[in-house]
Amino acid sequence: MNIEQLKGIGPKNQIILNKIGIYTVADLVNYYPYKYLFICIKKLNEALVDETIYVKAKVLTIPKVYYIRKNFNYMVFSCSIDEEIVNVKIYNRAFMKNNLVMGKIIILVGKYDKLKNIFTASDIRFNITNNKIEAKYHLIAGLKENFLVKAIDLALNCSEKFIDYVPNEYNEKYNLINKEVALKNIHQPKTYEEIKKAKIKLIYEELFNYTFKINALKLKNKKALGIKRNIDEDKINAFLSELPFKLTIDQQKAIQEILKDLSDSSRMNRLVLGDVGSGKTIVAIVGILANYLSGYSSAFMAPTEILAKQHYETLNNYLENAGLNIALLTGHMTLKEKNNIYKAIKNGDIDLVIGTHALINDNVQFNNLGLVIIDEQHLFGVKQRNALQEKGDIKPDVLYLSATPIPRSYALCLYGDLDLSMIKTKPNKRKEVITIIKSEKEIKDCLYKMLEEIKLGHQVFVVSPLINEDEEKNELNSVVKLKEKLQLAFSKQVSVEIIHGKMKQKEKDSIMQKFLNKEIKILISTTVIEVGIDIPNATMMIIFNAERFGLAALHQLRGRVGRNDFQSYCYLISNYDNKRLKVMEESNDGFYISEKDFEQRGQGDLFGVKQSGDIIFKIANINTDSKILLQASKDSLDYLENHKYKNNKYYEEILEEINFLD
Ligand code: ADP
Ligand code: MG
Repeated sequence: MNIEQLKGIGPKNQIILNKIGIYTVADLVNYYPYKYLFICIKKLNEALVDETIYVKAKVLTIPKVYYIRKNFNYMVFSCSIDEEIVNVKIYNRAFMKNNLVMGKIIILVGKYDKLKNIFTASDIRFNITNNKIEAKYHLIAGLKENFLVKAIDLALNCSEKFIDYVPNEYNEKYNLINKEVALKNIHQPKTYEEIKKAKIKLIYEELFNYTFKINALKLKNKKALGIKRNIDEDKINAFLSELPFKLTIDQQKAIQEILKDLSDSSRMNRLVLGDVGSGKTIVAIVGILANYLSGYSSAFMAPTEILAKQHYETLNNYLENAGLNIALLTGHMTLKEKNNIYKAIKNGDIDLVIGTHALINDNVQFNNLGLVIIDEQHLFGVKQRNALQEKGDIKPDVLYLSATPIPRSYALCLYGDLDLSMIKTKPNKRKEVITIIKSEKEIKDCLYKMLEEIKLGHQVFVVSPLINEDEEKNELNSVVKLKEKLQLAFSKQVSVEIIHGKMKQKEKDSIMQKFLNKEIKILISTTVIEVGIDIPNATMMIIFNAERFGLAALHQLRGRVGRNDFQSYCYLISNYDNKRLKVMEESNDGFYISEKDFEQRGQGDLFGVKQSGDIIFKIANINTDSKILLQASKDSLDYLENHKYKNNKYYEEILEEINFLD
């Protein structure tokens, strides 16, 4: 049923509701409150310092209105509250003046300053039910709270039956309340207990519904026929025994999972999730080797040119002796070079091509492509991933690599359609990066340390959050200013350069190349260096205004140093007494840090992961509801795998939509 069928919602209001995505009666009841107020009228002397309270007042004087500027006014008048005469001040309520006649009884909402005897009100109410819970909704310009509350009430009481998306067996299993009751109670609760039960029901429902789809996608991918291979395990083992190190348990496990995927007839869709330096590359290399040994070619897609080049060198080192013919394909190449490579790929002369997204250019015609590896896939969302997989008639196995350690529940939401191999432990050979928090006053310590490292022939990353000072009025250390300061400090003997997001890709690449060649000693940047480039000679990082970064982002940044056997350092500069940053001093473990970041900041922009519209939950919060999420996912998988969805029209339709049913 559409909202225009509700009596009492005119065309004007319909347009406003449409603006917040409400078209149907169901949309309306699914517009949940973001918080609740408990209305309880108090006595003035019961108010705690700074507490917002409701008090009953009698107007004693006619309000005086002061207009300060457009859309900004305040009003003062006096009232008697609990037998005391109190001055009341309220902003932007001039329109209420005529209602505030002398002797009128009103309810004031606000804070009382006892010393000054001023009650600063945030709202004035004329009739109010005491001891009542009030739902609060996000509003937009033109959408009045009173209207919204009324519209939701109309929707709740209309003839529409709201479908319960939770299958009965789970309703029974968890004692979930009836859907209609849940909707009524989420909007019009009488007790906190009612809110709690309604929330559990609706959150479970939302997450069951979501994970059902994700699980169906995953199973569908699993059912998709891929390449069935016979893998020469002896040759793989021989290769592994030649490695200069022993694989960690997690690496071994990931390799086994990949080899199994490659050998069975279903198509691989696997994500290897491991912190920076956890050794994902070798895992991918074994996959490439197995693919090659069974007669297929591979493509490796990196997010930037420099990274593609670095991977090219690394993979050449490992795979040359195994007989693979490896090519690099980047935008920088001349047309002639590119054409040669296109030809070679088409003819099947190339066993492995490494490149940027230039690889998905139409000119590239793969020959016998069996495996695609995509590095740093957090740049893609679920939808793009699926588009990528549908490209072309060949259906190669796909392996994603991500250096974004995230909690399992979050991974389930972002990457639930993929199989997951987690590399949690790092090779223990590495020295941990020593992290130190300093205030700007102590910057000298930092500069001494910098000089020391540079004298040892090492290089330094300096990170600052902004490009120009005037981007924000307060005193942030912009990269431009920092360069001047550092050049002054080191009397121009040390080469200092800047790199930032507003530069052209070519400029950035050229500066990174110079840094890699050690022509630049100190590189000042905004966060563009976040993506995984390897500068083994960089042993120090200084991050200014560290409090402005999330922990996960700091960890990603810090991962740029400590990529060799030297001791590395990370200085976090912050003038704030920041408990949050202490986590960075304590730990180098990305999974631990992301867990902390998650707790503190919620599901927002963890690691700057763009959610690209993929997960927007109406009521669930991945952070606080992760237990329900995991359970709902388990349940929906069971529901799907054991064909319990049969005769449930809603879920059958979903499956038809994603082409799940044959
Ligand atoms: P990332 O997971 O960030 O891609 P890499 O694959 O680049 O990490 O590995 C980081 C470094 O650790 C590389 O120099 C690699 O040779 C080394 N490495 C990988 N696995 C091990 C291991 N099991 N023991 C010791 N060193 C390893
Ligand atoms: Mg397979």
